[in-house]
Amino acid sequence: MHTSPDPDPPQTTVERVLVLFALLDEAMPVVERLRFPEVPSPEHRLPQRHWAGRVGTVEVTVVANGRDRRCGSDRVGTDAATLAAWTSIRSFAPDLVLNAGTCGGFEARGASVGTIYLSHGNLLFHDRRIPLDHFALQAAGRWPSAHAPNLAAAIGARPGVVSTGNSLDFLPGELEFFAREQVCAKDMEACSIAQVCALAGVPFVAVKAVTDLVDHPEPVQDAFLRNLRTVTALLGERLDAGLRWLGAHPRRLSEL
Ligand code: SAH
Repeated sequence: MHTSPDPDPPQTTVERVLVLFALLDEAMPVVERLRFPEVPSPEHRLPQRHWAGRVGTVEVTVVANGRDRRCGSDRVGTDAATLAAWTSIRSFAPDLVLNAGTCGGFEARGASVGTIYLSHGNLLFHDRRIPLDHFALQAAGRWPSAHAPNLAAAIGARPGVVSTGNSLDFLPGELEFFAREQVCAKDMEACSIAQVCALAGVPFVAVKAVTDLVDHPEPVQDAFLRNLRTVTALLGERLDAGLRWLGAHPRRLSEL
């Protein structure tokens, strides 16, 4: 972990990049493209999976949350994401953290299956209800994303507001929240990782590919399962391009 504050963070050269995924299905396309070997997890009590290698000038670690041993499914949501972010930032000391994965998109904001967003502005939590004034900000999250228009262009991603909750489906009140905040990408991890990165002092961006449309009559879980393979393959291709752009020559944070 960086211990001394950088006097001019935008001048920091990006040498170490951490890419966090929830699902193994989301992580494998880019791991296979980059031919990264699996490396031991720094925290053997957590089922996280880690892969590491170099892309040009940058060292990259890819992490997936791993399986819940009780039920055999991948660990999703904010608790698994928070643990993975904290433990891997501590062990790898990245200059930049990416949370990549799938999301629900919105036809009302011009999305279709396969649209890729890079987080814009502050990330939100849409399912934390604490009706007390002095908890309003903690409930809403509003943890910052780095401004990264050049990285977005290298990935082929549009800027969009990302909002996180612990459910794949949604409640009617959450639809009002998505419209009010102009949310483009609904996921289950990004804002919790943005929070960890803000606490750790590491710049953060989310890169989210649309598998399903929230404001569409088809249940999101049906579209998610049908589109998962093609969308994660596309995401892997785009992330590969983004990492190659980052590693093409030493990049400053201010160049992102
Ligand atoms: N059924 C899946 C797990 C889905 S959980 C399986 O069998 O593996 C959904 C995962 O995809 C989460 O990590 C979340 O970040 C992302 N996601 C995709 N579409 C989403 C949506 N509409 N709402 C919330 N999260 C979504």
